[in-house]
Amino acid sequence: MEDFKTEYEKVTLERECVAEKINALSQDEKIKEYFSLCKLNEELANKQKDLYKSMKVSEYSSCNHIWVTILHDSDSAEGRSYNYHGCIKCGLNEMPFYLMEWCRTPDELKLDDRIMYDLLKNQLSLKGTNTYLFCDLKLAKAIYSKIKEAHPDISDETAVKYLRVALYFMRNVKVTDERKVNRAKRLSLNPNYFINGKF
Ligand SMILES: [Zn+2]
Repeated sequence: MEDFKTEYEKVTLERECVAEKINALSQDEKIKEYFSLCKLNEELANKQKDLYKSMKVSEYSSCNHIWVTILHDSDSAEGRSYNYHGCIKCGLNEMPFYLMEWCRTPDELKLDDRIMYDLLKNQLSLKGTNTYLFCDLKLAKAIYSKIKEAHPDISDETAVKYLRVALYFMRNVKVTDERKVNRAKRLSLNPNYFINGKF
């Protein structure tokens, strides 16, 4: 008991000394500036986040989407697989709905996923063109941007035809690994993209 009392008084005294030092430092101009900059930084970060959100919502809302069905994202531990839609033009996709299975609230989603989740949860149907193509979104986006680069004024309908043909050749015409690597590089994908895994 006596030991606790002595220790308690010692700590109380120590805290008073520390509080005095904190108080003295808080009057220092440099330290005042530090705290005011931290506050400003936080305000700017919030503003930046809000603007990023507005920017993405505006980009997704103004896109005349072209949807592909993404092959699947399997959860190997439980042997489950999913099919979901994604837009090859703006990247909007339904993946966040599946990510929600591991979250208690949407607040746990990453910012980009949260924006897509909030936007899609209020939509009863997907606006735009459904291609009914099963394809990896990264690959479909890469092919679409190459098509757009070569034909900037191409219509969505024709772009989908080109995409369909490109996928057909990639999947059905046998080429050497070297050509697969070059193709992946041209599409800015991982060099082994067409060698490993399904596409
Ligand atoms: Zn889109």
